[in-house]
Amino acid sequence: MTYEELKQIDEQYYMKTFGARLPVVFTGGKGAVLMDSDHKEYIDFLAGIAVNCLGYADVGFASALKGQIDSGVIHICNYFYNEPQTRLAQLLCERTGFERVFFANSGAEANECALKLAKKYAADKGNSSDRFVALKKSFHGRTLLTLSATGQEKFHEPFRPGAYRFTYIDANDIEAAKAAVTADKCGVILEVIQGESGVLPLQKEFVSLLRTLCTQQDIPLIIDEVQTGMGHTGKLLAQEHYGVHADITTLAKALGNGMPIGACLSSSPFADAFGPGDHGSTFGGNPLACAAGLYVTERVDADMLSRIESTGGYFKEQLLALKERFPKIVTDVRGMGLLLGAELSEKKDAHAVQHALIAKGFVIGTAGSNTLRFAPPYCISRGQIDLLIGALSELFS
Ligand SMILES: *Cc1c(COP(=O)(O)O)cnc(C)c1O
Repeated sequence: MTYEELKQIDEQYYMKTFGARLPVVFTGGKGAVLMDSDHKEYIDFLAGIAVNCLGYADVGFASALKGQIDSGVIHICNYFYNEPQTRLAQLLCERTGFERVFFANSGAEANECALKLAKKYAADKGNSSDRFVALKKSFHGRTLLTLSATGQEKFHEPFRPGAYRFTYIDANDIEAAKAAVTADKCGVILEVIQGESGVLPLQKEFVSLLRTLCTQQDIPLIIDEVQTGMGHTGKLLAQEHYGVHADITTLAKALGNGMPIGACLSSSPFADAFGPGDHGSTFGGNPLACAAGLYVTERVDADMLSRIESTGGYFKEQLLALKERFPKIVTDVRGMGLLLGAELSEKKDAHAVQHALIAKGFVIGTAGSNTLRFAPPYCISRGQIDLLIGALSELFS
């Protein structure tokens, strides 16, 4: 099928949720390079929105998946034990310091699980409230409950009333946090780096305060690491940079390197709030998805994390140099490791830059109002980063 045929059939049959997509069809890839239907190559700085962390055609990943497929068992429901699930549960807990895990199929579902767990803990204590604290500019997913947790009006409007109730406070507003985090709440949910709204890192002092307040009020601090987790920031969890440990943390995007899987991790006493029948999933934790998660978690070891940190540090330096060269165009550079954002001034439209880069053979993302978002596979090289910076310089000159 040609690109034109695909586009036309998609427009006819797919719900209009994604509008006009970017004008390219990828048919192959290797490492951090994608190939389109005309054999043109692109260096990928988006990785399927922070998902394809091992890049394309990773031999070890493919063989881990093939091994599971060849066993004949792709799915077995949660009536039964399954070894990839059990091994991944143990490894993730050992690596993150959490005590228990539940596997879901996506980031939104992992967050849904986290919020239900917090609600159940509150209910067990005799607190019948359904109110949580969340941050403005957050993003937690597209299910009704996670949309409600998302502190951005534009997502709520046609779908009110949503689920549960949320008090939204401004990121880094200490006084608002003190006022909002009270014992009648069911929990506090946040991303330490707000990905979708522009790669906005929270301040350390604010995150530490929320940690303290949650402990004082005996309510869980829920850190959504769906985008930041599994090494993107140079640590397995971005919260490690902040010196805090959540009560509940969620993972998804990079965990399966493209296989759909989400995880909700928790420690006692919160982890024990669910009993038999309180939550479940048909597909969640299936052997194939867990074989993928297990392989990725093993690969994202200390060596990989230090590579992400140093390559990410180099990338950020280059973006900062670009900002220095084009101060009227690049107004801010943010993020950690290989999860970076470059905010543009009103004069340059981030989507137009994204389109221009596609034409030059680079895939990037956008986020927030006008920010270029970079979340490349962990195998991205300094040479590939130099090529992107060169292309951006040309566009800005
Ligand atoms: C992408 C994302 C989600 C939603 O994940 P899905 O897999 O699309 O449901 C939730 N939280 C954050 C921080 C995300 O970046």
